[in-house]
Amino acid sequence: LEEQLTHAQKLEAIGQLSGGVAHDFNNMLGVIIGSLDRVQATAELDDRSRGRLALALQAAQSCADLTKRLLGFARRQKLQPRELDVTSEMDRLRGLFERVLGETVTATLDIPADLPPVWIDASQFEGAIVNLVVNARDAMPDGGSLAVTARLVELDADEAAMAGLPVQAFLRLSVADSGTGMDAETQARALEPFFTTKGPDKGTGLGLSSIYGFLRQSGGGLRIESAPGEGTTVHLYLPPMQNPAGLAQNTPPAASVDLT
Ligand code: ADP
Repeated sequence: LEEQLTHAQKLEAIGQLSGGVAHDFNNMLGVIIGSLDRVQATAELDDRSRGRLALALQAAQSCADLTKRLLGFARRQKLQPRELDVTSEMDRLRGLFERVLGETVTATLDIPADLPPVWIDASQFEGAIVNLVVNARDAMPDGGSLAVTARLVELDADEAAMAGLPVQAFLRLSVADSGTGMDAETQARALEPFFTTKGPDKGTGLGLSSIYGFLRQSGGGLRIESAPGEGTTVHLYLPPMQNPAGLAQNTPPAASVDLT
């Protein structure tokens, strides 16, 4: 448990640092993009210069997208949690699964209809699911299977400790792929911002770290189970609005969660 605490604290520190940098960076990018826009609109340029200008603008836009994601991880972006019905939300995302996964991966969804609603930012939730599906696809270049399962679970002490969460009820959404899996180092570092094994052109290393930041801020959590050659399961723990009778009392969580 102590090891996990240090890990959470480390992530927290990286988050604060990157958030500060991203914030200032974003302001300066605004100046760059604004100026380039103005030049593009007014200057008489030959085709070659115009082409270069378009390239510069495009690169600046990509930087802006990146800093936005970084700000998301650093939790500088305000979340707008609301009551969300995971069953209908996942049903809505069904088509997107097929588009992302293509024909070589078969996807199965096991989402009961009687799940309690969760208290979460809907667009961040959607972004998280898309990200997990893209990661799963990347891990299955030769095809495979993806299984998404949702369950209302009362965490036992072990699972709570592994996810860094209190012993209470959560809606656990598990995304399991039959892909390459992760070695021990990758798994240990997967939640660090900028950690990627995909190379700079393909990966940003901001997928899992952003999802983790978003879920922590929402009173939930994330846990990875993976082994090389055996696929990967990412469990998302979402805070239920209310618990059915018999489970521990749970109110909508506070807006931010202290990692310490
Ligand atoms: P990115 O996808 O840009 O690399 P992520 O933060 O989403 O950033 O993932 C970090 C790393 O974790 C990936 O580069 C990859 O090595 C590993 N990873 C994430 N998801 C999976 C998965 N489903 N299967 C195997 N490895 C994964």
